Amino acid sequence: VHEMISLEQAQEIILDKVKPVDEETIGLSSALGRVLSRDIYAPVSLPPFPRSPLDGYVVRAADIALASPDKPVKLQVEQEIPAGNCSGKAIAPNQTARIMTGAPIPPGADVVIRFEDVRVSGKKIQVFYPMPAYTNICFTGEDICQGEMVLPGGTVLSPAGVGVLAGLGLNEVPVFKVMRVAVVSTGNELIDISENLRPGKIFNSNLYVLAAEVKHVGSCPVYGGIAPDTVELTAFKINEMLAGADMVLTTGGVSVGDYDFVEDALVRVGANILFHRIGIRPGTPTLCAVKEGKLIIGLSGNPAAAFIVYHLLAKPAILKMSGLNNWRPIRCTGLIQDDFLKASGQRRFLQGHLFLEQDTVKVRLSGRQRPGSMRSTLNCNALIDIPPNSGPLKIGDKVDIILLSPKI
Ligand code: AMP
Ligand code: MG
Repeated sequence: VHEMISLEQAQEIILDKVKPVDEETIGLSSALGRVLSRDIYAPVSLPPFPRSPLDGYVVRAADIALASPDKPVKLQVEQEIPAGNCSGKAIAPNQTARIMTGAPIPPGADVVIRFEDVRVSGKKIQVFYPMPAYTNICFTGEDICQGEMVLPGGTVLSPAGVGVLAGLGLNEVPVFKVMRVAVVSTGNELIDISENLRPGKIFNSNLYVLAAEVKHVGSCPVYGGIAPDTVELTAFKINEMLAGADMVLTTGGVSVGDYDFVEDALVRVGANILFHRIGIRPGTPTLCAVKEGKLIIGLSGNPAAAFIVYHLLAKPAILKMSGLNNWRPIRCTGLIQDDFLKASGQRRFLQGHLFLEQDTVKVRLSGRQRPGSMRSTLNCNALIDIPPNSGPLKIGDKVDIILLSPKI
Protein backbone atom coordinates (compact mmCIF):
# COMPACT_ATOMS: atom_id res chain seq x y z
CA VAL A 1 0.00 0.00 0.00
CA HIS A 2 2.83 2.41 0.72
CA GLU A 3 4.63 1.86 -2.53
CA MET A 4 4.54 4.76 -4.94
CA ILE A 5 2.38 4.39 -8.02
CA SER A 6 2.21 6.53 -11.14
CA LEU A 7 -0.48 9.13 -11.69
CA GLU A 8 -1.90 7.06 -14.53
CA GLN A 9 -2.08 3.96 -12.31
CA ALA A 10 -3.83 6.01 -9.64
CA GLN A 11 -6.32 7.37 -12.18
CA GLU A 12 -7.01 3.90 -13.48
CA ILE A 13 -7.53 2.45 -9.99
CA ILE A 14 -9.94 5.25 -9.16
CA LEU A 15 -11.93 5.18 -12.41
CA ASP A 16 -12.20 1.43 -12.12
CA LYS A 17 -13.91 1.76 -8.73
CA VAL A 18 -16.63 4.23 -9.69
CA LYS A 19 -19.73 3.92 -11.79
CA PRO A 20 -22.42 6.42 -12.73
CA VAL A 21 -25.07 7.34 -10.16
CA ASP A 22 -28.79 6.55 -10.70
CA GLU A 23 -31.00 8.16 -13.31
CA GLU A 24 -34.03 10.39 -12.92
CA THR A 25 -36.42 12.20 -15.24
CA ILE A 26 -36.61 15.97 -14.98
CA GLY A 27 -38.33 18.86 -16.74
CA LEU A 28 -36.48 20.32 -19.69
CA SER A 29 -36.39 23.79 -18.19
CA SER A 30 -34.18 22.56 -15.36
CA ALA A 31 -31.98 20.28 -17.46
CA LEU A 32 -29.25 22.68 -18.62
CA GLY A 33 -25.82 21.36 -17.62
CA ARG A 34 -27.16 17.95 -16.61
CA VAL A 35 -25.76 14.73 -18.07
CA LEU A 36 -28.14 12.82 -20.34
CA SER A 37 -28.47 9.24 -19.14
CA ARG A 38 -29.77 7.84 -22.46
CA ASP A 39 -29.44 8.44 -26.15
CA ILE A 40 -32.23 10.74 -27.28
CA TYR A 41 -34.07 9.83 -30.49
CA ALA A 42 -36.30 12.29 -32.31
CA PRO A 43 -39.97 11.45 -31.64
CA VAL A 44 -41.04 13.70 -34.53
CA SER A 45 -39.47 15.12 -37.66
CA LEU A 46 -38.28 18.71 -37.95
CA PRO A 47 -39.89 20.36 -39.72
CA PRO A 48 -42.91 18.12 -39.09
CA PHE A 49 -44.50 19.07 -42.45
CA PRO A 50 -43.23 20.57 -45.73
CA ARG A 51 -43.16 24.35 -45.30
CA SER A 52 -42.30 27.60 -46.98
CA PRO A 53 -39.00 29.24 -46.02
CA LEU A 54 -40.18 32.65 -47.26
CA ASP A 55 -43.14 34.93 -47.94
CA GLY A 56 -44.41 34.51 -51.52
CA TYR A 57 -46.75 32.64 -53.84
CA VAL A 58 -46.95 28.87 -53.84
CA VAL A 59 -47.46 27.35 -57.32
CA ARG A 60 -47.24 24.18 -59.38
CA ALA A 61 -43.91 23.94 -61.25
CA ALA A 62 -45.75 22.40 -64.23
CA ASP A 63 -47.99 25.50 -64.52
CA ILE A 64 -45.06 27.89 -64.96
CA ALA A 65 -42.84 25.64 -67.12
CA LEU A 66 -43.40 27.82 -70.21
CA ALA A 67 -43.27 31.21 -68.50
CA SER A 68 -41.03 33.90 -70.04
CA PRO A 69 -40.73 37.70 -69.81
CA ASP A 70 -42.57 37.94 -73.16
CA LYS A 71 -45.23 35.38 -72.28
CA PRO A 72 -45.75 35.52 -68.52
CA VAL A 73 -48.03 32.88 -67.01
CA LYS A 74 -51.10 34.17 -65.19
CA LEU A 75 -52.28 32.34 -62.06
CA GLN A 76 -55.40 32.91 -60.00
CA VAL A 77 -54.83 33.71 -56.31
CA GLU A 78 -57.27 31.36 -54.55
CA GLN A 79 -56.25 31.37 -50.91
CA GLU A 80 -53.96 32.84 -48.31
CA ILE A 81 -51.90 30.52 -46.14
CA PRO A 82 -50.48 32.12 -42.99
CA ALA A 83 -48.12 30.27 -40.61
CA GLY A 84 -50.13 27.89 -38.45
CA ASN A 85 -52.69 27.21 -41.24
CA CYS A 86 -53.97 23.67 -41.33
CA SER A 87 -56.75 23.80 -43.94
CA GLY A 88 -54.91 21.37 -46.24
CA LYS A 89 -56.76 22.86 -49.20
CA ALA A 90 -55.02 21.88 -52.45
CA ILE A 91 -53.72 24.13 -55.23
CA ALA A 92 -55.53 23.23 -58.46
CA PRO A 93 -53.90 23.74 -61.89
CA ASN A 94 -53.38 27.42 -62.78
CA GLN A 95 -54.07 28.48 -59.21
CA THR A 96 -51.78 29.92 -56.59
CA ALA A 97 -51.92 31.04 -52.95
CA ARG A 98 -50.18 33.71 -50.96
CA ILE A 99 -48.05 31.83 -48.44
CA MET A 100 -46.09 33.07 -45.42
CA THR A 101 -42.81 31.87 -43.92
CA GLY A 102 -43.36 28.70 -41.89
CA ALA A 103 -46.77 27.92 -43.42
CA PRO A 104 -47.45 24.39 -44.73
CA ILE A 105 -47.10 23.79 -48.46
CA PRO A 106 -50.60 22.89 -49.70
CA PRO A 107 -51.16 19.63 -51.63
CA GLY A 108 -50.51 19.93 -55.36
CA ALA A 109 -48.01 22.78 -55.12
CA ASP A 110 -44.24 22.33 -55.29
CA VAL A 111 -42.60 25.75 -55.72
CA VAL A 112 -42.64 28.98 -53.74
CA ILE A 113 -41.88 32.22 -55.62
CA ARG A 114 -40.90 35.28 -53.66
CA PHE A 115 -43.22 38.29 -53.65
CA GLU A 116 -40.54 40.36 -55.39
CA ASP A 117 -40.42 38.00 -58.38
CA VAL A 118 -44.07 38.24 -59.48
CA ARG A 119 -46.34 41.04 -60.66
CA VAL A 120 -49.70 41.31 -58.91
CA SER A 121 -52.76 42.53 -60.73
CA GLY A 122 -55.97 42.25 -58.78
CA LYS A 123 -56.69 38.58 -57.99
CA LYS A 124 -54.03 37.36 -60.42
CA ILE A 125 -50.25 37.16 -60.46
CA GLN A 126 -47.90 37.05 -63.42
CA VAL A 127 -44.87 34.75 -63.37
CA PHE A 128 -42.01 35.48 -65.78
CA TYR A 129 -39.66 32.54 -65.40
CA PRO A 130 -40.02 28.77 -64.91
CA MET A 131 -38.64 27.28 -61.69
CA PRO A 132 -37.75 23.63 -61.07
CA ALA A 133 -40.00 21.62 -58.80
CA TYR A 134 -39.13 21.85 -55.08
CA THR A 135 -37.56 25.31 -55.32
CA ASN A 136 -37.99 27.08 -51.96
CA ILE A 137 -39.62 24.14 -50.23
CA CYS A 138 -38.42 22.83 -46.85
CA PHE A 139 -39.07 19.11 -46.65
CA THR A 140 -40.41 17.15 -43.72
CA GLY A 141 -37.46 15.96 -41.64
CA GLU A 142 -34.79 17.83 -43.61
CA ASP A 143 -33.43 19.24 -40.35
CA ILE A 144 -33.99 16.27 -38.03
CA CYS A 145 -35.63 13.03 -39.09
CA GLN A 146 -38.06 11.15 -36.84
CA GLY A 147 -36.21 8.24 -35.21
CA GLU A 148 -32.78 9.80 -35.69
CA MET A 149 -30.44 9.91 -32.68
CA VAL A 150 -29.89 13.57 -31.82
CA LEU A 151 -28.04 13.59 -28.50
CA PRO A 152 -25.98 10.73 -27.07
CA GLY A 153 -26.30 9.66 -23.47
CA GLY A 154 -23.29 10.58 -21.35
CA THR A 155 -23.06 14.13 -22.65
CA VAL A 156 -23.76 17.41 -20.92
CA LEU A 157 -26.88 19.20 -22.06
CA SER A 158 -25.89 22.56 -23.60
CA PRO A 159 -28.20 25.51 -24.31
CA ALA A 160 -28.32 24.33 -27.95
CA GLY A 161 -29.21 20.82 -26.74
CA VAL A 162 -32.05 22.26 -24.64
CA GLY A 163 -33.26 24.03 -27.79
CA VAL A 164 -33.22 20.89 -29.93
CA LEU A 165 -35.08 18.88 -27.28
CA ALA A 166 -37.67 21.67 -27.05
CA GLY A 167 -37.94 21.68 -30.86
CA LEU A 168 -38.75 17.99 -30.67
CA GLY A 169 -41.35 18.58 -27.97
CA LEU A 170 -39.46 16.67 -25.29
CA ASN A 171 -40.85 18.11 -22.11
CA GLU A 172 -38.95 15.68 -19.88
CA VAL A 173 -35.42 14.32 -20.12
CA PRO A 174 -33.65 11.32 -18.61
CA VAL A 175 -30.54 12.46 -16.74
CA PHE A 176 -28.15 11.15 -14.13
CA LYS A 177 -28.90 12.36 -10.63
CA VAL A 178 -26.77 15.16 -9.24
CA MET A 179 -24.06 13.41 -7.30
CA ARG A 180 -23.18 14.44 -3.78
CA VAL A 181 -19.54 14.96 -2.87
CA ALA A 182 -18.71 15.51 0.77
CA VAL A 183 -15.73 17.66 1.65
CA VAL A 184 -13.97 17.45 5.01
CA SER A 185 -10.92 19.36 6.20
CA THR A 186 -8.66 17.98 8.88
CA GLY A 187 -6.35 19.99 11.08
CA ASN A 188 -6.24 21.45 14.59
CA GLU A 189 -4.97 24.71 13.11
CA LEU A 190 -8.15 25.28 11.11
CA ILE A 191 -10.97 27.64 11.99
CA ASP A 192 -14.08 28.28 9.97
CA ILE A 193 -14.44 31.50 8.01
CA SER A 194 -17.31 32.50 10.28
CA GLU A 195 -14.86 32.85 13.18
CA ASN A 196 -12.14 35.40 13.95
CA LEU A 197 -8.51 34.60 13.25
CA ARG A 198 -6.61 33.60 16.39
CA PRO A 199 -2.87 33.07 16.97
CA GLY A 200 -1.55 29.91 15.33
CA LYS A 201 -4.73 29.34 13.35
CA ILE A 202 -5.61 29.66 9.67
CA PHE A 203 -8.94 29.81 7.91
CA ASN A 204 -10.22 26.58 6.44
CA SER A 205 -9.95 27.48 2.78
CA ASN A 206 -9.70 23.98 1.30
CA LEU A 207 -13.27 23.17 2.28
CA TYR A 208 -14.58 26.10 0.29
CA VAL A 209 -12.40 25.73 -2.78
CA LEU A 210 -13.20 22.04 -3.10
CA ALA A 211 -16.91 22.61 -2.54
CA ALA A 212 -16.73 25.26 -5.26
CA GLU A 213 -14.94 22.88 -7.63
CA VAL A 214 -17.63 20.28 -6.97
CA LYS A 215 -20.30 22.84 -7.85
CA HIS A 216 -18.33 23.85 -10.92
CA VAL A 217 -18.77 20.39 -12.42
CA GLY A 218 -22.47 20.34 -11.61
CA SER A 219 -22.34 18.19 -8.47
CA CYS A 220 -23.65 18.98 -5.03
CA PRO A 221 -21.10 19.59 -2.27
CA VAL A 222 -21.82 18.45 1.25
CA TYR A 223 -19.96 20.71 3.66
CA GLY A 224 -18.33 18.45 6.22
CA GLY A 225 -16.52 21.19 8.12
CA ILE A 226 -13.40 20.52 10.15
CA ALA A 227 -12.23 17.30 11.78
CA PRO A 228 -9.66 17.80 14.55
CA ASP A 229 -6.43 15.80 14.36
CA THR A 230 -7.51 12.65 16.18
CA VAL A 231 -8.20 9.22 14.70
CA GLU A 232 -11.56 8.99 16.49
CA LEU A 233 -12.99 12.32 15.42
CA THR A 234 -11.67 12.00 11.86
CA ALA A 235 -13.16 8.51 11.57
CA PHE A 236 -16.46 9.75 13.00
CA LYS A 237 -16.60 12.59 10.48
CA ILE A 238 -15.70 10.38 7.51
CA ASN A 239 -18.39 7.87 8.52
CA GLU A 240 -20.95 10.61 8.83
CA MET A 241 -20.05 11.91 5.38
CA LEU A 242 -20.09 8.46 3.78
CA ALA A 243 -23.68 8.08 4.95
CA GLY A 244 -24.87 11.16 3.11
CA ALA A 245 -22.69 11.40 0.00
CA ASP A 246 -21.56 9.42 -3.03
CA MET A 247 -17.88 10.31 -2.57
CA VAL A 248 -15.78 11.94 0.15
CA LEU A 249 -12.85 14.31 -0.30
CA THR A 250 -10.66 15.08 2.68
CA THR A 251 -7.72 17.45 2.98
CA GLY A 252 -4.78 17.34 5.33
CA GLY A 253 -3.45 14.61 7.54
CA VAL A 254 -2.18 12.31 4.78
CA SER A 255 1.57 12.75 5.10
CA VAL A 256 3.94 11.34 7.70
CA GLY A 257 3.62 13.92 10.47
CA ASP A 258 2.78 13.05 14.07
CA TYR A 259 -0.80 14.22 13.61
CA ASP A 260 -1.55 12.74 10.21
CA PHE A 261 -4.42 10.45 11.11
CA VAL A 262 -6.51 10.13 7.96
CA GLU A 263 -5.19 6.70 7.00
CA ASP A 264 -5.76 5.34 10.51
CA ALA A 265 -9.23 6.87 10.49
CA LEU A 266 -10.01 5.19 7.16
CA VAL A 267 -8.86 1.84 8.49
CA ARG A 268 -11.01 2.42 11.56
CA VAL A 269 -14.15 3.04 9.49
CA GLY A 270 -13.46 -0.19 7.61
CA ALA A 271 -12.41 1.36 4.31
CA ASN A 272 -10.05 -0.44 2.01
CA ILE A 273 -6.88 1.56 1.29
CA LEU A 274 -6.11 1.56 -2.45
CA PHE A 275 -2.94 3.66 -2.44
CA HIS A 276 -1.19 6.26 -0.32
CA ARG A 277 1.55 7.74 -2.49
CA ILE A 278 1.72 8.83 -6.10
CA GLY A 279 4.82 9.73 -8.03
CA ILE A 280 4.07 13.41 -8.56
CA ARG A 281 4.96 16.73 -6.99
CA PRO A 282 3.23 18.35 -5.32
CA GLY A 283 0.78 15.87 -3.89
CA THR A 284 2.97 12.79 -3.38
CA PRO A 285 1.02 11.92 -0.23
CA THR A 286 -2.42 11.33 -1.65
CA LEU A 287 -4.61 8.71 -0.12
CA CYS A 288 -7.34 6.77 -1.75
CA ALA A 289 -9.70 4.29 -0.14
CA VAL A 290 -13.03 2.69 -0.85
CA LYS A 291 -15.83 1.65 1.45
CA GLU A 292 -18.96 -0.09 0.18
CA GLY A 293 -18.31 1.17 -3.32
CA LYS A 294 -17.81 4.76 -2.18
CA LEU A 295 -14.53 6.44 -2.86
CA ILE A 296 -12.63 8.51 -0.31
CA ILE A 297 -9.81 10.65 -1.69
CA GLY A 298 -7.47 12.13 0.89
CA LEU A 299 -5.74 15.18 -0.53
CA SER A 300 -2.84 17.05 1.00
CA GLY A 301 -3.73 20.01 3.21
CA ASN A 302 -1.44 22.26 1.22
CA PRO A 303 -3.82 24.38 -0.86
CA ALA A 304 -1.94 24.26 -4.17
CA ALA A 305 -1.28 20.54 -3.81
CA ALA A 306 -4.94 19.85 -3.01
CA PHE A 307 -6.00 21.98 -5.99
CA ILE A 308 -3.68 20.19 -8.42
CA VAL A 309 -4.51 16.68 -7.26
CA TYR A 310 -8.22 17.44 -7.19
CA HIS A 311 -8.00 18.23 -10.90
CA LEU A 312 -5.82 15.24 -11.74
CA LEU A 313 -7.59 12.58 -9.70
CA ALA A 314 -10.85 13.62 -8.08
CA LYS A 315 -12.44 15.50 -10.95
CA PRO A 316 -12.22 12.63 -13.48
CA ALA A 317 -13.84 10.34 -10.89
CA ILE A 318 -16.62 12.84 -10.14
CA LEU A 319 -17.32 13.28 -13.85
CA LYS A 320 -17.46 9.54 -14.45
CA MET A 321 -19.87 9.12 -11.53
CA SER A 322 -21.90 12.04 -12.89
CA GLY A 323 -22.42 9.96 -16.02
CA LEU A 324 -20.02 11.60 -18.46
CA ASN A 325 -18.73 9.18 -21.04
CA ASN A 326 -14.98 8.79 -20.99
CA TRP A 327 -14.12 12.29 -19.94
CA ARG A 328 -10.46 13.14 -20.39
CA PRO A 329 -8.85 16.55 -19.92
CA ILE A 330 -7.66 18.33 -23.04
CA ARG A 331 -3.89 18.15 -23.40
CA CYS A 332 -1.66 20.21 -25.65
CA THR A 333 1.86 21.55 -25.84
CA GLY A 334 2.92 25.16 -25.54
CA LEU A 335 5.86 27.43 -24.89
CA ILE A 336 6.59 28.31 -21.29
CA GLN A 337 6.98 32.06 -20.71
CA ASP A 338 8.89 31.93 -17.42
CA ASP A 339 12.04 30.23 -16.24
CA PHE A 340 11.53 27.41 -13.75
CA LEU A 341 14.99 26.72 -12.50
CA LYS A 342 14.39 23.80 -10.17
CA ALA A 343 15.29 20.42 -11.63
CA SER A 344 12.55 17.80 -11.30
CA GLY A 345 13.54 14.33 -10.15
CA GLN A 346 9.88 13.39 -9.75
CA ARG A 347 7.21 14.15 -12.30
CA ARG A 348 6.05 17.65 -11.44
CA PHE A 349 2.97 19.75 -12.08
CA LEU A 350 3.19 23.52 -12.24
CA GLN A 351 0.21 25.86 -12.14
CA GLY A 352 0.02 27.99 -15.21
CA HIS A 353 -2.02 30.46 -17.16
CA LEU A 354 -2.45 29.36 -20.75
CA PHE A 355 -3.07 31.89 -23.51
CA LEU A 356 -2.85 32.14 -27.28
CA GLU A 357 -0.54 34.58 -28.98
CA GLN A 358 -0.36 34.74 -32.77
CA ASP A 359 -1.56 31.15 -33.14
CA THR A 360 0.95 29.89 -30.58
CA VAL A 361 -0.04 28.30 -27.29
CA LYS A 362 1.89 29.91 -24.47
CA VAL A 363 1.80 29.34 -20.75
CA ARG A 364 2.96 31.56 -17.95
CA LEU A 365 3.44 30.40 -14.39
CA SER A 366 0.42 31.60 -12.43
CA GLY A 367 2.46 32.47 -9.37
CA ARG A 368 5.08 31.12 -7.00
CA GLN A 369 4.99 27.35 -7.12
CA ARG A 370 4.73 26.35 -3.48
CA PRO A 371 2.47 23.51 -2.34
CA GLY A 372 1.17 25.74 0.44
CA SER A 373 0.43 28.77 -1.74
CA MET A 374 -3.00 29.92 -2.77
CA ARG A 375 -2.24 32.91 -4.99
CA SER A 376 -0.86 30.64 -7.71
CA THR A 377 -4.23 28.87 -7.93
CA LEU A 378 -6.00 32.14 -8.71
CA ASN A 379 -5.10 32.55 -12.37
CA CYS A 380 -4.46 28.91 -12.99
CA ASN A 381 -6.28 27.54 -16.04
CA ALA A 382 -3.73 24.89 -16.93
CA LEU A 383 -1.23 22.50 -15.39
CA ILE A 384 2.23 22.09 -16.86
CA ASP A 385 3.22 18.43 -16.82
CA ILE A 386 6.98 18.05 -16.37
CA PRO A 387 8.35 14.53 -16.80
CA PRO A 388 10.63 12.99 -14.15
CA ASN A 389 14.35 13.67 -14.40
CA SER A 390 13.91 17.02 -16.14
CA GLY A 391 16.42 19.80 -15.83
CA PRO A 392 15.57 23.46 -15.30
CA LEU A 393 13.06 25.00 -17.73
CA LYS A 394 13.92 28.13 -19.68
CA ILE A 395 11.60 30.71 -21.27
CA GLY A 396 10.53 29.37 -24.66
CA ASP A 397 10.91 25.69 -23.79
CA LYS A 398 8.16 23.43 -25.09
CA VAL A 399 6.05 21.91 -22.31
CA ASP A 400 3.10 19.51 -21.99
CA ILE A 401 -0.05 21.17 -20.74
CA ILE A 402 -3.35 19.95 -19.28
CA LEU A 403 -6.27 22.32 -19.59
CA LEU A 404 -8.45 22.90 -16.53
CA SER A 405 -11.75 23.54 -18.28
CA PRO A 406 -14.67 22.93 -15.93
CA LYS A 407 -16.20 20.05 -17.88
CA ILE A 408 -15.52 19.33 -21.47
P1 AMP B 1 -1.22 18.67 6.21
O1 AMP B 1 -1.49 18.06 4.87
O2 AMP B 1 -2.30 18.38 7.20
O3 AMP B 1 0.13 18.30 6.71
O4 AMP B 1 -1.23 20.23 5.98
C1 AMP B 1 -0.28 20.83 5.13
C2 AMP B 1 -0.38 22.32 5.18
O5 AMP B 1 -1.64 22.72 4.68
C3 AMP B 1 -0.29 22.92 6.56
O6 AMP B 1 0.42 24.13 6.48
C4 AMP B 1 -1.72 23.16 6.93
O7 AMP B 1 -1.87 24.18 7.86
C5 AMP B 1 -2.32 23.54 5.61
N1 AMP B 1 -3.74 23.22 5.57
C6 AMP B 1 -4.27 22.05 5.98
N2 AMP B 1 -5.60 22.03 5.83
C7 AMP B 1 -5.93 23.24 5.31
C8 AMP B 1 -7.15 23.82 4.93
N3 AMP B 1 -8.31 23.17 5.05
N4 AMP B 1 -7.16 25.07 4.40
C9 AMP B 1 -5.96 25.72 4.27
N5 AMP B 1 -4.78 25.20 4.58
C10 AMP B 1 -4.74 23.98 5.13
MG1 MG C 1 -2.70 18.54 9.17
